[in-house]
Amino acid sequence: MKEETTPPWTLDTLLVHGGTGNQPTIDSGVPSVQPIYTSSTYLHASTEALEAAFSGTTAAGEPAYVYARQGNPNANAFEQVMARAEGGVGAVAFGSGMAAIHAALLAAGLAPGTKIVASRDLYGASIGLLRKMFVPMGIKVVLHNLHDEHAADRIRQEVPDIVFVESISNPLVKVIDVDIISAAAQEVGAVSIIDSTFTTPCLLRPIEHGFDLVIHSATKYLGGHGDSTLGVVISAKRALLDQLRAACTMMGAMAGPFELYLVVRGLRTLSLRMQRHCVNALQVARFLQQHPAVERVYYPGLPDHPQHELATRLLACAQYGGLLSFELKEQTRAAAFRFMDALRLCLPATTLGDTWTQVSYPPISSHRDLTASERQNMGITDGCIRLSVGIEDIGDIIRDLDQALGR
Ligand SMILES: *Cc1c(COP(=O)(O)O)cnc(C)c1O
Repeated sequence: MKEETTPPWTLDTLLVHGGTGNQPTIDSGVPSVQPIYTSSTYLHASTEALEAAFSGTTAAGEPAYVYARQGNPNANAFEQVMARAEGGVGAVAFGSGMAAIHAALLAAGLAPGTKIVASRDLYGASIGLLRKMFVPMGIKVVLHNLHDEHAADRIRQEVPDIVFVESISNPLVKVIDVDIISAAAQEVGAVSIIDSTFTTPCLLRPIEHGFDLVIHSATKYLGGHGDSTLGVVISAKRALLDQLRAACTMMGAMAGPFELYLVVRGLRTLSLRMQRHCVNALQVARFLQQHPAVERVYYPGLPDHPQHELATRLLACAQYGGLLSFELKEQTRAAAFRFMDALRLCLPATTLGDTWTQVSYPPISSHRDLTASERQNMGITDGCIRLSVGIEDIGDIIRDLDQALGR
């Protein structure tokens, strides 16, 4: 609303337009925290300036905004931090981790006949996306064990267009050899994509190991407080970044400003939280390993984990992550349910990476779409429990697990 005193706008008009122009300036004092920009559109000084803003940048090279689906200051702030944190040329925020994965695959050139080689240990919903959405479109999806010494040979033999892996798998916390996978992908000319949700840039920076696209479900550690659903893809290459941006804008898969605000806030304590998650998880792993009710513990920080040496080499400061899983001696669903229901502090929850300790039972959550024998083949037994170790006092976490295991 432009200032107009004679004649004054009527009350009805004042109410419709009032209060929107009230932006703080450097003279009035600017907020130390970025406001939440809910605006769906942006006003410019002239129609000529508006026309220029459609290009996405101002004459000075600053981001220019026109319409929320094409860009938003909260998204821009988050994308800039993530691009720097991962060492990429840029990043694009999405409304969820799954939207980010979908867009990353599209940006990598998905089309009928495209061949994707992916780890068979991928997150359940990612396997669902590949099989239920992409296979019917004529995309070839080959799931392989990419965790053993033949991983590179399998990629060389398949000659895929895209290679898709996770830094640490769910729930058996297998660590991927990022150098070997990215080198093999590069050799056959494939775009390499890694879902780095479990490691965060605090533990691993996959672009430094040759990956093209890095994905996070920011719903997990990046946000960290269980109150926002969001995803992000960081690109090592300009051309892929342009494809990601186009996919986000055209699909309307962008993140909302409230969630972006919460995740940027979460990032401020990410490295502190990750340190504590990792320290606590190692202690929980050691405690469970010696517990008489526990058959086996999977945690890359334990010397008997198959990729312990690799994890020690790859992960920053020997921080092995906050995720672990274990098998109860009594390998039954009933025993698993009894254990989960007996917990008083740890929350039975189908997510991970929040400040509080969370426990989940893969056969009813992440791996419920698989048959019992498929789960057995993957090494997920009926006694398998996954823990996302929180940042509470370690004594309290262990006391709670101990009393629940005693039941
Ligand atoms: C949760 C998760 C996703 C999906 O993210 P959403 O934000 O729930 O869409 C993808 N990959 C991994 C490894 C996850 O843990």
